[in-house]
Amino acid sequence: MKYVDEYRDLELAGKLAKEIERLCTQRWTIMEVCGGQTHTILQFGIEDLLPANVNLVHGPGCPVCVTPVSLIDRAIAIASLPKVIFCSFGDMLRVPGSTVDLLEAKARGADVRIVYSPLDAVKLAKQNPQMDVVFFAVGFETTAPANAMSLHQAKKLNLTNYFVLSSQVLVPPVCASVLSSADNQVQAFIGPGHVCTITGLNEYKNLAQTYKVPIVVAGFEPIDILESILLCITQLESGRHEVINQYKRVVEAQGNLTAQKLLQEVFEVCDREWRGLGWIENSGLKLGSNYKDFDADLHFEKTSLVEISESAECISGQILRGTKKPTDCSAFGTRCTPDKPLGATMVSSEGTCANYFKFKRFELDSTTS
Ligand code: SF4
Repeated sequence: MKYVDEYRDLELAGKLAKEIERLCTQRWTIMEVCGGQTHTILQFGIEDLLPANVNLVHGPGCPVCVTPVSLIDRAIAIASLPKVIFCSFGDMLRVPGSTVDLLEAKARGADVRIVYSPLDAVKLAKQNPQMDVVFFAVGFETTAPANAMSLHQAKKLNLTNYFVLSSQVLVPPVCASVLSSADNQVQAFIGPGHVCTITGLNEYKNLAQTYKVPIVVAGFEPIDILESILLCITQLESGRHEVINQYKRVVEAQGNLTAQKLLQEVFEVCDREWRGLGWIENSGLKLGSNYKDFDADLHFEKTSLVEISESAECISGQILRGTKKPTDCSAFGTRCTPDKPLGATMVSSEGTCANYFKFKRFELDSTTS
């Protein structure tokens, strides 16, 4: 299959791994930003092909994982109100809030529905004028244009019963936050290919210059990842810090200008709380002043929530910053599994802990038995 088979070529993978080994003279720590890239790295055993001095750490690019408990609680509180249809992508339903998740709220009678697009939620609002329909907008720059389009459509249709609960986050500020932290170990990034399809490369150029880190914007197949690691190592070994676009078959330097225009019309940049990472300045999107009437956070009265912190055992914040790996967590694979997750990084298929559990558990079991 074009664009898949040639990016899973075993012989080429071996050649790239050999070249990485040949170039690498010291230990380097590289973070892949996207959860989809983490999935590929673990699914295809890419770490096993690399020399021991290439340390891959797994970044905060799983939107489900970084949505804070307080916002999950807010979603559950809104979903539990009478006359509300609460719409979400399926992977948010099992993310633990402080007491229950959305699936449990649904079992208790809340009208929670899985949709495949925010436009499905707009359709529901049109079909159910007596109900308030709320879409839980969770995601990075990649999904924000579809959310913006749903708001644009709702406004055009004069809907007064469609609302968006925004938990949209932005990649460059969280990368800056990782690099600024006192215990940072990251020396290069494998950049987020799909996000850059929308945003283009400019913000990443600023990041690379400010923090003097190489960034290679990459795709999601094994050869994409290996090529990107090679391009990172080549720069690290020669003291360069540029943005290289490895994912040229999809990403254009200027991004998607139509989508960028729509985002500017509908959203405003705001500070956001990230699960495990805390508040990060200018790291999110909220509904702009022309769309305030559609803002679920403003429309629904805030219920007082019991503040319960996350499991004390969970170290997902350190995992998302690249300073720890899931196997450093005492609950990994025992008290915390995908069936009974203690933290969000064990929930999503893009979550680092869930990927370690799926692809590395047996390997780890056999080395410890
Ligand atoms: S294994 Fe579970 S408890 Fe441990 S860091 Fe991952 S999500 Fe948190």
